[in-house]
This record gives sequence, structure tokens and C-alpha cells, in this order.
Amino acid sequence: MGVEYKYVIVGAGMSAHSAARGIRERDLVGSILMIGQEPDSPYDRPPLTKDLWKGDKTLADIDLHTAEKTDAEIWTGVRATSLNPDTHTLITDDGRTVNYEKLLLATGGSPHTISQPSDRVIYFRTKHDYELLRALAQPGTSIAVLGGGFIGLEIAAGLALAGAQVTLIISDDSPGSLVYPPGLCGVISQKFADHDVRVLTGRIASEIQEEKDKVNIYFDAHPAVHVDGVVAGFGITPNNALALDGGLPTEAGGVVVDAMLRTSDSDVFAAGDVAYYPDDILGRRRIEHVDNAQSMGKTAGHNMVRADERYVHTPYFYSDIFDLGYEAVGRLGSQFDMVEDWAPGKTNKTGVVYYLEDRAVVGVLLWNVWDSTDLAREVLKEFGEPGSVGNPAKQLKGQIPTR
Ligand SMILES: Cc1cc2nc3c(=O)[nH]c(=O)nc-3n(C[C@H](O)[C@H](O)[C@H](O)COP(=O)(O)OP(=O)(O)OC[C@H]3O[C@@H](n4cnc5c(N)ncnc54)[C@H](O)[C@@H]3O)c2cc1C
Repeated sequence: MGVEYKYVIVGAGMSAHSAARGIRERDLVGSILMIGQEPDSPYDRPPLTKDLWKGDKTLADIDLHTAEKTDAEIWTGVRATSLNPDTHTLITDDGRTVNYEKLLLATGGSPHTISQPSDRVIYFRTKHDYELLRALAQPGTSIAVLGGGFIGLEIAAGLALAGAQVTLIISDDSPGSLVYPPGLCGVISQKFADHDVRVLTGRIASEIQEEKDKVNIYFDAHPAVHVDGVVAGFGITPNNALALDGGLPTEAGGVVVDAMLRTSDSDVFAAGDVAYYPDDILGRRRIEHVDNAQSMGKTAGHNMVRADERYVHTPYFYSDIFDLGYEAVGRLGSQFDMVEDWAPGKTNKTGVVYYLEDRAVVGVLLWNVWDSTDLAREVLKEFGEPGSVGNPAKQLKGQIPTR
């Protein structure tokens, strides 16, 4: 038998919260159940690497107050383990059976690991991880940050602001060199140097071992590093187990959805980091960013009530490192051709970088340039066909004002 809800959302993260709000915009009374394996109700994740370290926000500020805002029932600390779309049932790890009319998979992703996580080895993703790291990161504590992606760079900056003795260990040549043009990488490196962050480049950790109160990090071709704690940001694997269990198609690790965010079963939807969706401008993809989680969650919520809304929003994303900040749309990567358009006298301070592949624009970086994501989307639309940019400097520079 089990319990019955009209709408069930698996995952109590950022897209789950937006989906519950989306449902309520169309259905004021239908019952909503949210099942989340973290001990917390939905909260805002980006401040975990930014505002909380800068002192701009507290943990209380990041609570999204989902239950008050949507009247959803939230089961925290509970994992959904099995899905049967034919019988419209879910089973949870505490043995409950849940019947739904409409289901949303908003399960996000799990961090890649190379060792057992612990109080001293943190694969950073959650509020609990923040609490562990905050307790560890006392002034003078030595902490190694592994991974030079968005999370690694941001958390290294946050830890430095907290007074920890930080070693940033990355596989690439300099912080950001997989994503930004060399001039910007120089600016980022200088920021880390200004804050006494030691940077070790060209290193891939092969093993992490704990020994009493220390952590040893081993590398194949470099001496080991010994620290009080490690925080790692190696990327995530989408949590697609329920979709696989329910026989729903996945691709590139994500759950395949149509423009209405429906899986192959019209009563099961997916949104956020786990969804492999058809983007109007960028084509089919999975996006691990908050604007996508929120906008897609909202549309999924609407469509759980009445499936009539295409997801047409091409999301932007952002990152902050110390006082440096940007917004971006599309794909960034130093493997692409990069066309830099800096404001006069503000090289590597304020400007736009266009990323090109096959003479088409695939990404736009707005470095210290704000309120321009719509213009970036226009550029991606106009110059998105392979071969459409014959003369990059002439065709692209000035498309987006570098004010
Ligand atoms: C530290 C950090 C900083 C970030 N900063 C930025 C930023 O600056 N800019 C930006 O654009 N994006 C940022 N992001 C990315 C952004 O937060 C994510 O894209 C967004 O949270 C994705 O939302 P989601 O709902 O898909 O997944 P999540 O918010 O990750 O939520 C998924 C939830 O589902 C739970 N779950 C999984 N499987 C099950 C199951 N079977 N049963 C029950 N529960 C389950 C998970 O435990 C998790 O709580 C950041 C992410 C992190 C971790």
C-alpha cells in the first residue's frame, strides 16, 4: 500500500525547491512530498564557497524555507532507492512505499572521490561539508585544496580569507588555465599570491591517506604533501540510479528529458544537474549550474501540474574568486579559440571573451561585465552555426558593450 501524494520530488536541493514553488503557482492544494538524503531542507548552495567565507551571509541566511513557502512535506535524511513508473511507486531506504501521480527526479550529482571521505578529507558539496571544513579551517591550519575547477578555486579563496594556510594543488599549468585566456590566469594567480596561497601545478593526486591528525597526499611523480586537512573538488557524477532502476533512458550520465522536461514516462520529470535536456540555443546537454537548476525546476513544477510549457531558457552561470567575478553563457574552455574584447584601459579587468569552435561561438565570458547575459545569448544564436564567424575580431568585438 504505502502513502500517497499528488506530487513527489526526489532530491531536496535547489531545483527541488524551485519545482515545489512552480507547482504551487499552478496548484494551491495538491499534496507535495519532497524526499532528500541530506539532513537539511533545501538551501542555497553557491554561498557555501563564497558569501559564508566572506562573512556576507550566515548558515541561517541560506535556508530556502521550502516548507513554509510551498506547504511541501519534506523527508530529510531519507534516500529513494527504487522506482517503478508502471505502478507509480517509489521505495525509500527506511522501507516506505510512496505512491505518486507525478514524480520529479531532482537528484543532482555526487562528488568524485579518491578515498574515504572523513572529517579531514572533504569532497565539498553540501552544508554539512561546509560545517566540517569551517571547524577544520582555523587560522594557521594547513589545508590542501585539490582540483582547479570552479569549486576548487572558490574554496581556496574562501579558506585563505578564513586565515588558513592554503595549498592549491591543480593538474593544469596555472589556476584557471583550462578555462580562461592566459592574461586572466595571470590575474587569478596574482590574487592567490597576494593572499599567500601556495599553488602547486601539474599534479594529480593518486592517493590520500590519514595518519593520526594529519593527511598525506601522494602523487605519482611528485613528493607527497602533508597537511591538517584536504578539501577536494573533482567534479560530480549525475545521480541517475533511480532513472536506471525505473528503466528510463539516460545519456551522457544524465536523465533524458524532452522540452517539457518529461522523461520517456510522461508522469516522470527530471530537472537540474541530473537532466539531459534540449537547450534551444546550445543543443542537448547537462548543466551543473544554479540558474539552470532554478529555472528548470520551476518549469518542471509547472509541467507536473499541466505539461504545456517548453523549457526555453538558456542558463547563465557565475563564479567569484576573492573580489574577481563574472557571468557566462555556454561553454568555456581554453581548448577553444578565444577572442578577447577588453574595455579601453581595462585589459584583463573588464571585458568579454568569446569562445569559438569550428568558427562558431560556443561560449561567452562576461568578466566584470554585468546585466549582459541576454546579449550573450543573442551572440550565441547569431554566430552559433559552424563557419559563421569568418573574421572573429571584426564580427565579434563590440557585440557586447564592455561597460
Ligand atoms: C559548493 C557549491 C557551489 C556552487 N556555486 C555555484 C556558482 O557559484 N554558480 C553556479 O552557477 N552554480 C554553482 N553551483 C552549482 C549549483 O549549486 C547546482 O547546479 C545546483 O545546486 C543543482 O541543483 P539540483 O537540485 O540539480 O542538485 P542539488 O542542489 O545538488 O540537489 C540534489 C539533492 O538530491 C539529493 N539526492 C540525490 N539522490 C537522492 C535520492 N535517491 N534520494 C533522496 N535524495 C537524493 C542529494 O543528496 C542532494 O541533496 C555550486 C555547487 C556547489 C556544490
